[in-house]
Amino acid sequence: MKKLLLIFTILICLTGCTKETEVRTIIENNNAYVSINYPITKNKKLDIEIKKHIDKTYNMFQNTYNDSNIPELNISYKYKLLNNNFISINLNTFKNDGINTSNVITTFNYDIKNKDFIKLESLLDINKLNYLMKKEILQKYKSCTATCLKNLKIKSYFLDENNITLFFNSKDLNIDSSKIISIEIPNKKLDLSLKSNNKNPTIQIKNNKLNPTNKVVALTFDDGPSKYTDKILKILEKEDAKATFFIVGNKVELYNETLLKMVSNGNEIGNHSFDHKLLTRLTDEEFKNDIKKTQETIFENTGFMPKLIRPTYGGYNDKLMSNVDLKLTLWDVDASDWKYKSERRIVNNVVKNVNDGDIILMHDIFNRSVGSAEKIIKTLKKEGYSFVTVSELNKIKEKRKN
Ligand code: ZN
Repeated sequence: MKKLLLIFTILICLTGCTKETEVRTIIENNNAYVSINYPITKNKKLDIEIKKHIDKTYNMFQNTYNDSNIPELNISYKYKLLNNNFISINLNTFKNDGINTSNVITTFNYDIKNKDFIKLESLLDINKLNYLMKKEILQKYKSCTATCLKNLKIKSYFLDENNITLFFNSKDLNIDSSKIISIEIPNKKLDLSLKSNNKNPTIQIKNNKLNPTNKVVALTFDDGPSKYTDKILKILEKEDAKATFFIVGNKVELYNETLLKMVSNGNEIGNHSFDHKLLTRLTDEEFKNDIKKTQETIFENTGFMPKLIRPTYGGYNDKLMSNVDLKLTLWDVDASDWKYKSERRIVNNVVKNVNDGDIILMHDIFNRSVGSAEKIIKTLKKEGYSFVTVSELNKIKEKRKN
């Protein structure tokens, strides 16, 4: 019996034992601008610790609400799977109380086989690391002199295929607390050999046929991808409908296959910033860098270069937008899938209010949006609508003018 069970387990493993990491997204726009994205790795011990940290940060932030300024909480992540065994996660907690900002890095390094957090000394020669670290600190942070150097402690670290990034407490170096204090040491110098399991594929982008005389609408989905996006893609494919996904850049690597499928099926990807910060509070330079980083990440991972931008929380101004060469894309009909819990309400809301040529706003981070999207597509198809991407819709509108 035991043998049978073992064979069965091996068989399952052969077909899909690699537990896929997901990203959990929380977006709020009521008393505060909240955007939280963090990975769920399906490694229980690790996921519990991450969740604890997120809950604690979120609860602490809720106590800081005041009436005068709308505060912002933004938690974004970096994720690396290395040597098919080590997970390195870097959570960046950005807070803005309307006046001051702060940035805090928290990292989690986990060994999948040993089911435990990684101790640095088990990975590399600690003495060598200390030596290289001090050398680098002296070069990069002039404020750190002999006493500071003597007491310097590594607060946390993040691993990738090229470097180990070490983070420090800013007050240990007498530096302003809104800054992240970090140095990078090449893995090579530490005889550390880490291979990334992240892929870099390319795809064929399909061009859809357009008929400008048909009634058309453009379905758009914000804040994804998520575990629900694949289900939406399947529905779109089955119904021969296309949609536009305004995605958040820091999710690109973990949802690479979803994005490839999205694009190769003829859907469009739009830029919804790298980590969903409120864009109007960024400087022109920060804004440009954020959008550029998102464009590059999407292009490197999918071969698709977005042409559209949808600002986070719908917040923008003309001056900000003049910094980028992307078409500002808002919406005509808000499905309110973020507000309504019932599919019926979401569907009715869209079907009642939609007109030829409209852009519909939905979100691919809720289960209810999957069923709602299917019903919206089926109902509107019966009314003679076709579903096109936003760029196609813009082309059709141009053609109709002539
Ligand atoms: Zn959004």
